Amino acid sequence: MEQNTSQRECRKCLLIDAEAGKEKEIVYRYICELPKAEKTPENIFQERLESCRMCEWLSLATCQACGCFVEVRAAVKKHKCPYHKW
Ligand code: SF4
Repeated sequence: MEQNTSQRECRKCLLIDAEAGKEKEIVYRYICELPKAEKTPENIFQERLESCRMCEWLSLATCQACGCFVEVRAAVKKHKCPYHKW
């Protein structure tokens, strides 16, 4: 039996890689509206996300170690990775 690959979810993807949806819209609106003083600079944000993409704790855009959407966690300057990967 052939599986419909277009409906499979990528467990190692972030919301930015996903099709438009409510979670993606809410998370990216939250990130967009963060005060500049609290927001991670874009280059550091991208470095953090690259670490998350390679991490065994990433599943369905969520960190299984802390329960956060990793993009939300990475977007806030003062936040840290629970496993000190960033
Ligand atoms: S926040 Fe840390 S532990 Fe969680 S997915 Fe990202 S790198 Fe992994």
